[in-house]
Amino acid sequence: MLDEKLEPIYADVLRRNAGEEEFHQAVHEVLDSLGAVIAKHPHYAENALIERICEPERQIIFRVPWVDDRGQVQINRGFRVQFNSALGPYKGGLRFHPSVLLGTIKFLGFEQTFKNALTGMPIGGGKGGSDFDPKGRSDAEIMRFCQSFMTELGRHLGEYTDVPAGDIGVGGREIGYMFGQYKRMTNRYESGVLTGKGLTWGGSRVRTEATGYGAVYFVERMLRRRSTQFDGKKVIVSGAGNVAIYTIEKVQKLGGRVIACSDSNGYVVEESGIDLALLKEIKERKRGRVSDYAMARKGATYVPNGRIWDVPADVAMPSATQNELTGADAKTLVRNGVLAVGEGANMPCTPEAVRTFIDANVLFGPGKATNAGGVATSALEMQQNASRDSWSFETTEEKLRTIMHSIHDNCAQTADEYGSPGNYVLGANVTGFIRVAEAMQAMGVV
Ligand code: NDP
Repeated sequence: MLDEKLEPIYADVLRRNAGEEEFHQAVHEVLDSLGAVIAKHPHYAENALIERICEPERQIIFRVPWVDDRGQVQINRGFRVQFNSALGPYKGGLRFHPSVLLGTIKFLGFEQTFKNALTGMPIGGGKGGSDFDPKGRSDAEIMRFCQSFMTELGRHLGEYTDVPAGDIGVGGREIGYMFGQYKRMTNRYESGVLTGKGLTWGGSRVRTEATGYGAVYFVERMLRRRSTQFDGKKVIVSGAGNVAIYTIEKVQKLGGRVIACSDSNGYVVEESGIDLALLKEIKERKRGRVSDYAMARKGATYVPNGRIWDVPADVAMPSATQNELTGADAKTLVRNGVLAVGEGANMPCTPEAVRTFIDANVLFGPGKATNAGGVATSALEMQQNASRDSWSFETTEEKLRTIMHSIHDNCAQTADEYGSPGNYVLGANVTGFIRVAEAMQAMGVV
């Protein structure tokens, strides 16, 4: 139940954003945490501040025409939602996936605003993408698509305006093509306009690893509150993309055993532990499937169309996509004795799943806190670009670790302060909200 002052705000969000269910879900989760804030600090509800936070500053939708390898003209839809710039230029990734709708990008941009605030760095929130499906497309097709996408998007970007990065379906290759096109259009080598760049042309060390590593640091810190650690724990990680791979890498470095991962076709289980070098070879180099991994390993079992959450584990790290872990999955995990869940993806657990974990006293790290290491390291990339500097892996990773620990500690402290100790959802939402709200109040009604 939302606070009675927040009910009409939510009703208005539903009315103005009809059919955008993921956006409704993300807004509801934040508003649900804000009752406690406005009870304590009523001034945050003044001047329609919360209503303004729920309304993106700007939403851009555009046509992306491109020519495929057969000479056929293809049309996709591009989006950029510039959600909130109270704390800095809009910052957030681009997603290329056939499921992308305006509501998807809005939910991601909304989440991003609070996530970026949690990092304590000078970045606002935004998100973008397209319903383009990169699967099965040649390099040349990906390049032509990225060039066409940037031809329109580029006019809305700038290192002090809006700085995109990668997300699902957008990695180093796509960032390269987009940066090349932007450079050509503007005749400027504006490194700070995109993050996730290659290491030889303005990228930051650790950016590739950052989201996964950061998520593991966050969960490690949560485990410490129960006087335990990753060493010896059985872990399942959904997905097999950027976030999943570097989550697996860091868990293994800390002595945990990752026994399952997945893609959208199925999951693979290997009780002795996933062979990460092989997984990287298949996913990063050959752009293959986890079924290829299972074929190459005697001890691995492939379960097509199954629920990875049926595999008993101590720690679960959903790292694929939104709403991939349902209430029923959460009950299964709890029944199997899960101790901690850390969201590597954005909003991978449904509201029912989140409630199930919190009610069962499972340590639960919400995505906007747990996966903030990616954008934090993007902000470190912007810092290096601005000072024309390049830091070592160790220096950058140490900064990431410090940021993740401080996000964890701030969320935990806020949850204590608002009477819900151990509730990281409340801690993250309230901490992020207050930072954005303070800046918006200082700047007046804009
Ligand atoms: P990738 O494209 O590298 O990998 C995505 C993985 O998730 C793939 O294994 C993909 O499988 C799987 N997946 C995607 N959609 C679905 C679906 N509908 N059902 C089941 N599996 C699916 O993306 P990232 O690893 O970068 O992103 C993963 C999540 O992490 C997203 O929620 C993203 O928003 C979030 N995130 C990413 C950050 C980053 O730095 N990259 C930063 C913060 C959050 P398949 O190949 O079959 O599609």
